[in-house]
Amino acid sequence: MKRASLVATLTAGLLVLAAAQGQSSRQAPVRVLAFWSANVEGDHVEFAREMVEFYRRAAAGRWQFEATTNWDDLNAKRMEGVQAVLWLNDSPHAARQREAFENYMEKGGGWIGFHAAGYNDSSTHWPWFVHFLGGAVFYGNNWPPLPGWIQVDAPSHPVTRNLPKRFLSPDNEWYSWRPSPRADRDVKVLLTLRRENFPLGLKDTITGGDVPVAWTNTRYRMVYFNMGHGDKILTDPRQNRMFEEALLWVARRP
Ligand code: ZN
Repeated sequence: MKRASLVATLTAGLLVLAAAQGQSSRQAPVRVLAFWSANVEGDHVEFAREMVEFYRRAAAGRWQFEATTNWDDLNAKRMEGVQAVLWLNDSPHAARQREAFENYMEKGGGWIGFHAAGYNDSSTHWPWFVHFLGGAVFYGNNWPPLPGWIQVDAPSHPVTRNLPKRFLSPDNEWYSWRPSPRADRDVKVLLTLRRENFPLGLKDTITGGDVPVAWTNTRYRMVYFNMGHGDKILTDPRQNRMFEEALLWVARRP
């Protein structure tokens, strides 16, 4: 074989190999690890169970979904190769679990938190997490759970681009935040409760103000959704699709 044609053959071979590798990395399903707790508020457990089933059913080869109630699985070894970590209505309480999560996110991991996963107050004692959440601290909530009119603040974002500009989100216990995550310049708010909802609630009421319900801290690959209380959340197909898009987005899949 002449030198020129040998080079051409080798180059072609490398191109085929590179294409095959690109192909296989595109097609390998995302690895997802979801954390939840069975010993928290009943409505929160109910949502967590439903969400685990939802993501399992919706996978369609796109992701490999595992769920655990053992928060000690928040460790570097267990999370190796995991592209998306989900917290369904709880958050880690032990220092070593928190530290493992911080390292995972600082190294580019993906995260979605639902509802009580973002709850924090003066007893939480985890400044890193408050910072990660865009400075948002729980301030109040409505009761009983009620539907909420949502404004899509980021209609072109990959997570929210398939939603109508406004929609009625099913019954939820909505949280308000002080400070609001919108005050953090690195936060991109995706969804907000529209003002026409207020006053929202009977026993406990959100009287007004700016109430973001989904956002991302752009310093990380993360999305927080306030949805997650009770058994109605997954009754809206548009919102369900958003939860699927979010999983692919935090895992950096197109
Ligand atoms: Zn709740």
